[in-house]
This record gives sequence, C-alpha cells and structure tokens, in this order.
Amino acid sequence: MKILFAASECAPLAKVGGLADVVGALPKALQNWDIDVRIILPLYKTIALPADSRMVSSFACQYNKKSLEVKIFQACLPGSTVPLLLAEQPELFGSSGVYGSPTAAPNGTTDTEKFLFFSECVAKFLELSDWKPDLVHAHDWHVSLLPVLIKIRKLPVKTLLTIHNLAMQGLASQDMLEDEIMSEPTLKQDWARSGKINLLRQGILHADGVNTVSPTYAEEITTPEFGEGLDKELINRGDVIGILNGIDDVVWNESNDPFITNHYSKFSAGLKTENKIVLQQKLGLEKNAETPLIVVISRLTGQKGFNLLPPIMDKLLELNFQLAVLGVGEPDLEKFFEKLAADRPTRFSVTKKFDEQLAHQMYASSDIFLMPSKFEPCGLGQLIAMHYGSIPIVRATGGLKDSVENIDDSLTNTEKATGFVFEDFNPEALLSTFQKALTLYSNTEVWRQLQNNAMTRDFSWYTSSRKYFELYREIISK
Ligand code: ADP
Repeated sequence: MKILFAASECAPLAKVGGLADVVGALPKALQNWDIDVRIILPLYKTIALPADSRMVSSFACQYNKKSLEVKIFQACLPGSTVPLLLAEQPELFGSSGVYGSPTAAPNGTTDTEKFLFFSECVAKFLELSDWKPDLVHAHDWHVSLLPVLIKIRKLPVKTLLTIHNLAMQGLASQDMLEDEIMSEPTLKQDWARSGKINLLRQGILHADGVNTVSPTYAEEITTPEFGEGLDKELINRGDVIGILNGIDDVVWNESNDPFITNHYSKFSAGLKTENKIVLQQKLGLEKNAETPLIVVISRLTGQKGFNLLPPIMDKLLELNFQLAVLGVGEPDLEKFFEKLAADRPTRFSVTKKFDEQLAHQMYASSDIFLMPSKFEPCGLGQLIAMHYGSIPIVRATGGLKDSVENIDDSLTNTEKATGFVFEDFNPEALLSTFQKALTLYSNTEVWRQLQNNAMTRDFSWYTSSRKYFELYREIISK
C-alpha cells in the first residue's frame, strides 16, 4: 500500500501545534504495517534543505494567471526512513515560515493563496511522478482542495481528509481559483451563499473518506454547538470516525530525553522533583520541591479555555502552587499571564515563544499540566504530560475526555485514574478542580499511583496507526 501525506506542518521541521506531531509521527508507525508512506510539505524559509536531499521532480504550476517553477526535493524525515518531499517555490513558500501574516508575505500573499498553490503542486506532482500512491492523506483545510482537484482531473488515487481542528476552515475568494475549479457545483454553491469558498467544506464533500482525531470529537462535530457550521455536511456523510492521536515515543521519552537533566521512569517518578528544582531556578521561581508546579504549554487562545482563569484568580492565589506558562497567542491572555508573572515573579512565570527544549523540560519537571479547553479535537499536550508523569487538569471535551480518566471524589478508582476532568465550562468548575488536585497532591501515595497509571497508559501510535491502516484499506477497496 502506498500513501502520500500532504500537510502544512511536520515535526520536527515545521511545527506550530499538534498537527505537526501527528504528521511527523504517524508515518513512522505506518511503516510497521508495511506501508510505503511519504510526506509532502512546502519548503518554508524556516526549513534548511537536509544534506541528504536530491531533486526528484520539477514542473511549472499555475498561480494567479502566472506560471511558477516548482522543484520537489526528496530527503528522509529526520530520525526515520520515511521519505520526505519538500516543494520548493521561493516566492510563495520560501519567503515565510509555516504561517505568516498577509503583511509579512510578498505582494500580500495570504496563507490561503499559499496553501491553494501547495495543493496545486501536490496534484501536479501526482500526475507527473512515477511513484503513484493509492491514497492521499490530506490534513486540515490547507490541503482540503486536493480531493476536489483529484476528482476534477480524474487522477487514479483515493483521498482521506483528517480534520485536526474544524474551527479552522480556510476561506478563499473566487479570483484565487482557476475557472476549471470554480466550475465545480459545490464551489459555485459556496460562492453564491457567502461570496467565499470554504475549503474545508469542499474537502468534506469531495474526499473519499473523512475522519477526525478522537471518537468524542467525531460525535461532537455533528452537533450545531461544535459543528462550526459544517455539522450538516458531516452528518450527511455518515462515515466520519474518530481515531485518537498517539505520541512519538522516541521524541517523547522521559528515560533518555536529551533536553532534560534527570532522566526517570515510572519506577523513579520521584526524580521529577530534581528536574523541578532545575526548572524553578531557570525560570526564576522560588526553589521549593514541595510546591506543586503547574504548567501550561499551549497556544494561548479562547479554545484552550485559559479565559476561565481571570475570574477565579483571586481565589486561586490563596492556594499553594506555582504556574509556569509557555506559549503565544491572544493579546489579552498574554497580558494576563505577563501581569501575574510581573506581580509575583517567584510564583508565576510566562515565556512567550515557541521553545521545543523548554517544553520538554516543563513536561519533565511539572506536577500538573493544565488544559481546560472549551473544545479539543484530540490534544497532544495532555498525552505527553501523562507520559511524563505530569497529571492533567482538563475539561471533558473531545480527545481530553477520551484520554484522561478522572479520579472520582471518593477515590474509588485510584487503580485506573490518570487526572482531573471537569464537565462544565465555567470558572467555578475549574476552581474546584484546582482545589481537588492540590489537596490530593499532598496525599503522596495516591499521587504516585496517579503518576504510575498515567505513565503506564499506552499513548504510542501502535494501536491508532493500525486503525488508519484499516481505514486506508477500506477506502482504497471502495
Ligand atoms: P494544538 O491545538 O495547538 O494543536 P495540541 O495539544 O494538540 O494543541 O498540540 C500542541 C503541541 O505543540 C504539543 O506538542 C505542545 O507540546 C506543543 N507546543 C504548544 N505550544 C508550544 C510552545 N510555545 N513551545 C513549544 N511547544 C509548544
């Protein structure tokens, strides 16, 4: 079986969020099922062409009534034998990172135009390449036009669209698309309805298969509350399943992680404390092994639920904990965390950047990981945290609900529980979950048990990659 992954992100070369983790890890796991899997990605300014790369194809692709030269280089995804195809086009891909603001891009090129062009490049590559995949696995709105292009051009390849976040849909205007594409009735329909082409919607309508990244999110998105205006299209398909993401257990391995000072395992999770002291020192927090250290490693957005914190902050300040935040995002949230850190620098710290090394150190040093999302397709953060023995506080939504087992109030499930899960998206519910978690933290025996449960859970890609393999087989045989 031959599969081509098409995506905007891929760890470790181009990472903004969980999409990169998935695209960088799932192909490696698919190789275990004897699949010839390759990845295609734009060659952004931020990616250095790997030394082992060689040009395998070059062609002209239409953009804005102009013909642009594209070169495809092949290398190996770092740390693996998975072939990685990098599409080089200096003007459109080579002038910015993964996502760029319209003003930063040349001639005001938007991300939408950039990724529409990337989809064109992939379609062209499929036509010209000697290597012909059985299925193109497209990820998110950036490459959602691919199923449409493949259909219009009658290319002999099946398509699977994975939705990593339904809230991001990609809206194109008519002039960004060639007449050939605009003649497709579903695009005309979008245009007539709203004056924009909804790229994710087109992908949902045209792909041979559609899935998302957790069973609960697969159900949620068929409701108006979580459907982001596309619930009807998803219901009409009737085949949208959820496959829970895994984590790359080579990249995320607490027993040999190159970024952390003290390695440990579930048998020596107490050693996390030593990492905590190192991190407290690094971030300027009070060095204190006893104080529970809570971390946030996330985009700072409303989706992630951090706006539940300001209304309860006065109450939270009465509790004993430290909070270290790593992330960038909405200005109000950044300011909120900055002020906390400025007012109480030995209790709160905020690092406003994307820092892979610090992220590893924070997972390895923390006692608690906070992700109280309003909605969460899967969430990679809580999986990594549990793997590193950092107990998650999460809200019961999407993949958070599917991956974290709540400890009940009467502690009857200490043999299985892996974290704290609250139901209602409101500040009071979060406050009482903080109180519960911090109270339980002082019960060393139960806490160790929680850590052991979390670190024992299998979050590897093994099981989920098998499910993708089966899904590919089903789609290809249709
Ligand atoms: P998202 O909705 O952003 O995809 P996920 O929890 O699925 O959220 O995945 C986030 C991924 O990005 C995790 O691997 C997390 O460790 C990483 N991450 C998020 N913010 C940062 C940051 N500021 N620095 C380093 N890694 C980060």
